[in-house]
Amino acid sequence: MSSLAIAEKYNTSFKQLKFHPNFINVCQSKYRRESLYQLATKMKPKLPDSAPSTAKPWHSLEIEKALAVQKSNPDTGLTSKQTSELLHEYGANELQEFGGRKPLSILIDQFTNIMLVMLMAVAVVSAILDLRSGDFPKDAIAISFIVILNGLLGFVQESRAEKALAALKRLSSPRVRVLRDSKIFELPAKELVPGDIVFLETGMQIAADGRLLEAQNLQVMEAALTGEAEAVHKDSTLHLPEDASLGDRINMVYQGTEVVQGRAKMLVTATGMQTELGKIAALLQSVEAQPTPLQQRMSQLANVLVTSSLALVAVVIIGGIVRTGSFQHFDQLLKVSLSMAVAVVPEGLPAVITVTLAIGTQRMVRHQALIRKLPAVETLGSVTTICSDKTGTLTQNKMVVQQINVSSNSIRVTGDGYAPTGTFELSTSNQDKNIKSIEPKDYPELEQLLFACVLCNDAVLQKKHSEWEILGDPTEGALLSVAGKAGMQQAKLLNQFTRIAEFPFSSERKRMSVICQRRQTELTQILSAQEEYQAPDSQLIMFTKGSPELILELCTSDYVGTKSSFALNDEKRAYILEQNNQMASQGLRVLGFAYKPLDTTVPTTLLDEKTTERELIWIGLVGMLDAPRPEAKAAVAQCQQAGIRPVMITGDHQLTAQAIAYDLGIAKPGDLILSGQELEKLSAPELEQQVNQVSIYARVSPEHKLRIVEALKNQGKLVAMTGDGVNDAPALKQANIGVAMGITGTDVSKEASDMVLLDDNFATIIRAIEEGRVVYDNIRRFIKYILGSNIGEVLTVAAASLIGLGETPLSPLQILWMNLVTDGLPALALAMESPEPDVMNRPPYNPHESIFARGLGFYIIRIGIILGLITIALMEWAYNYTQQSGDPERWKTMVFTTLCLAQMGHALAIRSNTQLTIQLNPFSNPYLLAAISLTTVLQLMLIYVAPLRSFFNTHLLSLPELGICIGCSALVFVWIELEKLFIKHFRQERKITYKV
Ligand code: ADP
Ligand code: MG
Repeated sequence: MSSLAIAEKYNTSFKQLKFHPNFINVCQSKYRRESLYQLATKMKPKLPDSAPSTAKPWHSLEIEKALAVQKSNPDTGLTSKQTSELLHEYGANELQEFGGRKPLSILIDQFTNIMLVMLMAVAVVSAILDLRSGDFPKDAIAISFIVILNGLLGFVQESRAEKALAALKRLSSPRVRVLRDSKIFELPAKELVPGDIVFLETGMQIAADGRLLEAQNLQVMEAALTGEAEAVHKDSTLHLPEDASLGDRINMVYQGTEVVQGRAKMLVTATGMQTELGKIAALLQSVEAQPTPLQQRMSQLANVLVTSSLALVAVVIIGGIVRTGSFQHFDQLLKVSLSMAVAVVPEGLPAVITVTLAIGTQRMVRHQALIRKLPAVETLGSVTTICSDKTGTLTQNKMVVQQINVSSNSIRVTGDGYAPTGTFELSTSNQDKNIKSIEPKDYPELEQLLFACVLCNDAVLQKKHSEWEILGDPTEGALLSVAGKAGMQQAKLLNQFTRIAEFPFSSERKRMSVICQRRQTELTQILSAQEEYQAPDSQLIMFTKGSPELILELCTSDYVGTKSSFALNDEKRAYILEQNNQMASQGLRVLGFAYKPLDTTVPTTLLDEKTTERELIWIGLVGMLDAPRPEAKAAVAQCQQAGIRPVMITGDHQLTAQAIAYDLGIAKPGDLILSGQELEKLSAPELEQQVNQVSIYARVSPEHKLRIVEALKNQGKLVAMTGDGVNDAPALKQANIGVAMGITGTDVSKEASDMVLLDDNFATIIRAIEEGRVVYDNIRRFIKYILGSNIGEVLTVAAASLIGLGETPLSPLQILWMNLVTDGLPALALAMESPEPDVMNRPPYNPHESIFARGLGFYIIRIGIILGLITIALMEWAYNYTQQSGDPERWKTMVFTTLCLAQMGHALAIRSNTQLTIQLNPFSNPYLLAAISLTTVLQLMLIYVAPLRSFFNTHLLSLPELGICIGCSALVFVWIELEKLFIKHFRQERKITYKV
C-alpha cells in the first residue's frame, strides 16, 4: 500500500501522513525548520504571496500529465529545435545578479558620482581649450584616465559586495547529464530548459527544479532550501495534494540541493530565476543594502568639496573679470578654475580607502573574524550594541549534567566531560548535608528519566582516539553521557525501542517528543528479560523533553515510581518550578522530562502535536552546566570599556541567563530582563522604550531577535547581532553587522551575515571591532592628510590669479600627479599605522557623525591655509626672482616642488595626533619611510630627467633653488609639531588647575 493510499484510507491530511510507521522511513524530518522561502517572506512581507500561486503545482500532477504539459518524452528527450526555442523563451538557467541589474548598469552608476562628473566636465572644457589653441589635450586625457580608473575601482568594489548572492549562485551545479534527441549529453547547467530530461547521481548538485520520473533510493539534502539538516528520501511514484509545502514535495527535486544517495531521472520544470532558489535569490536581493557610515560620509564629503570648488571657481572668474574690467583673459581664468577643480577632488582617495579596507579584512581573518562584506570593516568600529547568543558564543557549548531532580529527590551527578563514568549522589532535602552515593536502578523515577534521556535524543556519543565525543547537539550529548554514567547504553535501548514518530525540536517550540514502540521479536523479549533495567512496559510510549515550564504545563500527573502516577496538584507544581528556578539561578540549563503511554489502537497517522503532546506524566528535571568561555569575561569588560553595550539573547530560562550574565558582567542585579513572552505583548514603540535598558532577553525565539534589532536601530544604535540557525537569517540581515557562527552556524545564516566568527567566540567580535576602529582612525588620518594638501593647492592656484601673476602655477596634470602619487603613496602607508593607544578606551564615535567632526574639518582648513600661505609667499618671491633670469617659468616648478615636499613632512608629522614625531619609533611604520623616500625621488626625477621634464612641463632648478623649496616645505612639519607641543602644554595646564 502506498503511503498516500494509507493516508486516504484514514482520510487524514498529508501533514499527518509522515507519522505513519511506513512513512517515517520515507521522509523522516528531524530538524524541520522554516523554509528559506518563508524566511525571505519575513524580510519582505509584501512580495512573495503571488509567487507560489503562479507556479504550476507539478508535485500534484501525474508523471504522464507533467510530461504532456512540458511536451517532453522520457525516452528521447527534447529535440534540438524544441530546446533552442525554449532557451529563447525562458533564458539561460542562471541566477541573475543584482536583481536584474546588469554589470554595465553598475558600471554606469559609478560615473554618476558627483566628483567624477565634475572631473569629466573639467576634461571636456580642458580638451576644448587645448584643441582651440592647437595644443595636444594632455590634461584632458590624463583626467579621463583617472575618471575611468576610479569608476572601475568602484565597480570592482560593488561587485564584490554582493557575495551572498554569489554564494547562492555557487549552489547550482556547473555540468549536467541530459537526454536530448535520444542521446545523452553532458552540458553546462545554464543550457538546461524546462522539459529537459536530466539524470541524477549520488554527489551531484541539482541544477534546476524538476519532477522525478524515476528514482532509485534517492536521498536529497535540501538544507539550503528548507533548512532541514537530514537528507530527504524522494519518491517519484506519488502525486501529492496541491498545498503540500516545499519540504513535503517528495516527488520533486530543487535547484541548489544535493543528491547524497541513489539515482534518478527528472523532468525539468523550472530553470533560472523561476526555480525556488531563484525566487529566494530575487527576494534576498530586494532587501536593499543601506549605505554604510563611511559611504554616507564620503558622499557628504564629495558634496562639500564640489560645492566649495564651484564657489571658488565663481569667485576667481568673477574676481578676475572685475579686476581687469574685461573678458579678455576669460580663457586664462577658465584654465585657472579648471586647475582648481582638479585640485579639490581627492583623486587618490577611493583607491586608498579600498586598499585600507582590504588590509583591515586581512588583519581580522588573522583574528578569526572573516569579513564577508567589505564595508563592514569600518561599520564595526562604530558598533554601539552587541546582541550575542549565550549558548556557544559566550559559553563553551560543552554541556555536563550536574543535577537531577525526580520526585522529591535532588541528585548530584559527578564526573568530567562526556565520558560515561561518574557517580550519583543523593541529598534528600536541601538542608541535608549528608550526601550518599546511590545506584540509579534503585530509583524507578530516575530510571524512567534516564530512559527518556536516551530515547528522546538525536545525538550520538562515541569514543574516538580514547576521547569521548558527541555528534549532534551538545545538550543531548550531555543526556547520553549521564545515562551512560548509570550504565544505560544507547545502542541497547535502541534495540528494544523503535522510534516511529516524532515532533522535532525547534527554538520556537522549545521542546521535542518521540514516540517509541517496543520491539516485539522473541529475541528482544529474551534480551529484555535479562536486562538489568526495567524498561517501561507500554507498547507505545511518548517521551518529551524541553523547557521545564512548558513541559510542566502539558502535564496532568506526576510519576511516582512502580509505574504509577498521581494527579499533579498545585503544591507539587509550585515545588517543581521552585526546583527549576533554584537550578537555573546557579546558571544551569534545565530541561524538563515527561512521558505518556499511548493507545495502540489509535493509528499513529492520527497523532499530531496538539492532541498528543498533552496530558503528560511528569518525570523530573535535569540541570546541566555550560561554563562561560574563559576569555568571555575579559572581552565583556573590554567591550564596556570601549563604550559598547553587550546584550545577551538566549532561548534559555531567564534565571540561567541571569546567572551567566552576572558572572560575565553583562548585567548586574537590578537590571531589566525581558522574556520572549513579555516581549510578544509589547508593541514596537513600547519595545523601543525599553530596549536601551534591557541587557538580557530570555526564552526568546528567532523572530524576537528581528524585533529587538529593529527596535535598537530605531533608537539610533548600531547593532551587531549573532546567530546560527536558519531562522536567524532575517535578524542577521537586518542588523548593521550580522555575525554568523563558523563552526555551528548553518550556511543560510552565514550567507545572510556580514562577518563570520571562525571560532564562534564572543571575544573575536571585540577584536574585530578594535580592528574596525583602527581602520576608521587611519582612514580619517589620511583624509586629513590628503585634503589638507588639496586646500593648499587650491589656495595657491587661486592666489596666483588674484595677485595677478597672470598664469596658473600648476597644470591639471601636475595636480593629478600630486593628488595621486605624491599624496597617494604616503597616504597608503599611513593606512598601515598601528593603533593609537586609546583605541578601545573610548566610546564609539557617533555613526552619524560628519566626516569633519572632532576637529577634522578645522584641521584640514588650518593646515591647508598654512601650506597655502607658505607656498604663496614662496611663489611671490620666486616669481619676481625668476623674471630676471633666462628661464622665467622656473617659479612654477618651485611652487610644484614645495607643495610636494611639504606633504612629505606632513605625512611624518601626522602619524600621531598627540605624540611628537621624535617620540615615535621611526621604524614602526617602515612603509611610510619607504613611501616618502620613493615619492621624493620621483619628484626629483620630474625635474632632473629630461623626457619627464618635458612631459610634465617642469623646469630645471638649480641646487640653491631646490634648497629653498626644501627649506620652505620643512616649515609645514615644524608647524604641526609646534601645534602638538602647544596642545600638550595647554592640556597639562588644565590638568593642574583641575587638581587644585
Ligand atoms: P539557546 O541556544 O539560546 O540556548 P535554544 O533555542 O537552543 O536556545 O533552546 C531553548 C530552550 O529549548 C532551552 O532552554 C531548552 O529548555 C530547550 N531545548 C534546547 N535544546 C533542546 C533539545 N534538544 N530538546 C528539547 N528541548 C531543548
Ligand atoms: Mg541552541
